[in-house]
Amino acid sequence: MRKPMQPGRGGYVTNWGGNQSWRPSAFVRPSSEDDVAAQITKAAAGGGTVRAIGSAHSFTATAVTNGVQIELSNLDEVYEVDTTTKRVTVGAGMSILAFNELLAQHGLAMTNMGDIGYQSLAGAVSTGTHGTGAAYGGIATQIVGLRLIAADGSIHDVDESDPSLLNAARVSLGALGVITRVTIQCVDPFNLHAVETKHSLDDLLAGEWDEIAASTDHAEFFWMPGTRNALVKRNTRTQEPVRTSRIDHFTSRVLGENIGFGLVNRVGRRFPAAVPTIAKLVAGGSDDRDFVDRNDKVFMSPRYVKFVEMEYGLPVEDLCEAVGRINALCRELRKPITFPIEVRVAAADDIHLSTASGRDSGYVACHVYQGTSYDGYFQGVEAIMDDYAGRPHWGKVHFRTAAALRERYPKFDDFLAVRKRLDPEGVFANAYLDRVLGAGL
Ligand SMILES: Cc1cc2nc3c(=O)[nH]c(=O)nc-3n(C[C@H](O)[C@H](O)[C@H](O)COP(=O)(O)OP(=O)(O)OC[C@H]3O[C@@H](n4cnc5c(N)ncnc54)[C@H](O)[C@@H]3O)c2cc1C
Repeated sequence: MRKPMQPGRGGYVTNWGGNQSWRPSAFVRPSSEDDVAAQITKAAAGGGTVRAIGSAHSFTATAVTNGVQIELSNLDEVYEVDTTTKRVTVGAGMSILAFNELLAQHGLAMTNMGDIGYQSLAGAVSTGTHGTGAAYGGIATQIVGLRLIAADGSIHDVDESDPSLLNAARVSLGALGVITRVTIQCVDPFNLHAVETKHSLDDLLAGEWDEIAASTDHAEFFWMPGTRNALVKRNTRTQEPVRTSRIDHFTSRVLGENIGFGLVNRVGRRFPAAVPTIAKLVAGGSDDRDFVDRNDKVFMSPRYVKFVEMEYGLPVEDLCEAVGRINALCRELRKPITFPIEVRVAAADDIHLSTASGRDSGYVACHVYQGTSYDGYFQGVEAIMDDYAGRPHWGKVHFRTAAALRERYPKFDDFLAVRKRLDPEGVFANAYLDRVLGAGL
């Protein structure tokens, strides 16, 4: 079972990034779908509100509530594993990590995923969590069915027979109801051949990146703002056997990306004047790597260093220009940035509120070490993203409201119409939804 979320001292719930803390009126952990329905109808009958929570890995206030918080870690049953259709139905509270272990036992795999697997499946899809790959969509594109419990306690089994409802429900910010089970279209198992190399940022932006992204199954790059080199990760799907060293994995993913990195950030916060040197050390510290491992072990890494993140999706053809502008912005900031920026891509999809809805997308993710101020940095990046009709990740810090977002999502009003039908009284509302979807819309 996924480690359950717990309220802390005084009944306060805090998210992973530590930038959101709130006190629900009640915190409940149902053990069945009937129990979920009962909790919703009880709260609604008293005029209250309800918000589901997964692993609290969102940086926005999307799960925040002063009403009833429903925690779903008990809902992690395995309902069906069909190795013929490769469709698997599980409780929506299961973590991505646990789901991948289940698939490995049955000779199946997810076709793509993000950088970590601590999130619940429902939480991950609800905010449009994605990985990278020009021909691959986010996790929600793999959802072919889900069960939703609406504000009146009614059960809705949503699947491809009603594509419009499925495309509203697959990325729904918890606004349509509580998702209790998901059916995921899986694929045959595969390994990834991972090649990690250093490149000049200028060369990447001058055309090299477009070639790499188009010719690699799953490519991404990281660069430390203010430095000239980027680390490019190219992951190619393969049936080659595993060829990796656990020591190398530990040195790179645990020591390099976590322990060493956390240390330099702590030093940087204490001694800001040392930041440019530290940034160069971190940027130059990683060696080229070449290995093969099971796909989920390459896609996902542990994250021990806490940070706060903003991520924007934009039309893929604008990606390099926007990255160049962000790099220039970072050079002008009063305080240098000590966390790398991550650049990824994803295929267009037809999900109403997906950041890749209707357009092949590039993604730029900016981070700051936990406890560091980010307003000037993130607002500067956001202003650049406005020029490209950028769409903020629903689970990562941003400052935009419904007025701007409505223009950036062609199916925004279609989503609102479904919301009005399933939750006319706003039982699943919270302040974040009022801001990003519009209170009276
Ligand atoms: C270290 C780290 C790495 C990350 N890496 C990536 C990445 O690679 N790619 C990416 O795109 N994002 C990434 N994220 C963002 C993260 O995937 C999303 O914020 C995700 O939504 C978190 O899932 P969760 O289970 O913690 O959900 P929460 O944060 O708990 O909830 C998210 C939303 O889902 C709703 N929700 C939760 N459960 C249900 C349910 N059962 N029914 C209905 N609504 C529900 C909540 O109400 C809320 O609106 C990362 C975040 C962190 C902290």
